[in-house]
Amino acid sequence: MSIVTGTGTAAAAVQIVGARKSFGDKQVLKGIDLTIEPGTVTAILGPSGSGKSTLLRAVNHLEKLDGGYVVVDGELIGVHLVGNRLKELHEKQILRQRARIGFVFQNFNLFPHLTVLENVTEAPVSTGLLPKAAARERALELLAQVGLSDKADAFPRHLSGGQQQRVAIARALALDPQLILFDEPTSALDPELVGEVLAVIRRLAETGRTLVVVTHEVGFAREVADHVVFLDAGVVVEEGTPDDVLGNPQHARTRDFLSRVL
Ligand code: ADP
Ligand code: MG
Repeated sequence: MSIVTGTGTAAAAVQIVGARKSFGDKQVLKGIDLTIEPGTVTAILGPSGSGKSTLLRAVNHLEKLDGGYVVVDGELIGVHLVGNRLKELHEKQILRQRARIGFVFQNFNLFPHLTVLENVTEAPVSTGLLPKAAARERALELLAQVGLSDKADAFPRHLSGGQQQRVAIARALALDPQLILFDEPTSALDPELVGEVLAVIRRLAETGRTLVVVTHEVGFAREVADHVVFLDAGVVVEEGTPDDVLGNPQHARTRDFLSRVL
C-alpha cells in the first residue's frame, strides 16, 4: 500500500483514502476517498445504513478499517507505518490522537453519574491537560457559550435532550479540538429542540474549527456547510458545494434521498 503523506495531504484537516470496512460478510464502506479542508464545515448525508457512522467513527479510530487509512492533520490515525505496512498504534497513542478530535454522539453519551460541570471537566482533568480549578473555569466558559450556565450543577437526567446535547458539545470542546465530528446530533431530539442545538453548531462553524456533521437536516446543511457529501451503500455517490449537491444533484440516488427527507 502506498501512503500519501507530506505536501499532498499536510494541508488537509482530514484525508480518508480507500476506506474499507465489513461487518461479517456485509461490506459497509467500499473504498471511500474524502478530503476535508481545514476550517470548513462538511455535511455528510445519506440513507440509514449507508455507512455514515462507521466512516465518522473510523476517523478517530472508534472503528478499525479493514483497508485504507485516515490522516488527520498530517498524522495517520490508529496506525503507523513500519516498513511499508500499517501497524496498530498502542492504546495510549490512540487515546492521545482521540483527545485531539471532538466527537458528538446522536444519543449524547453524557456520564449519567456526573454533574454537567463534571462532564465537561472530566477529560481535561483526567488527561492532565488542566488542573482542576482551570478546568472548572474553562468548563463554565464553555457552558456559557452553549447557554447552560445555570445548569452546571444539574445531572444529565434533569435536562431536556437539547440541553444534554449542548452539554455534550461543551464537553467535546473541553480539550479545544480543531476537528469536531457530529454523528446525527439532532436525530434523537424532539423537533422543537433541534433548533437550539443547530444554533450552537452554527456558531461553532464561525470559530475556524473543522466540523464534520452527519445530518438529515438538509436546510442546515445548505445554510452552514461548505461541502456536502452524499453517501449511499458504502460509497460516495456525489460531493460538492451545497448548491451543487442539494440544489442540482446529478445522481438519481441523491435526488431520491432528498425527495424523501425534504
Ligand atoms: P448509518 O450511520 O449510515 O446509518 P452505519 O455506519 O451505522 O450506517 O451502519 C452501516 C451498516 O453497518 C448497517 O447495516 C449496520 O447495521 C452495520 N453495522 C454498523 N455497526 C455494526 C457493528 N458494530 N456490527 C455489525 N454491523 C454493524
Ligand atoms: Mg448512523
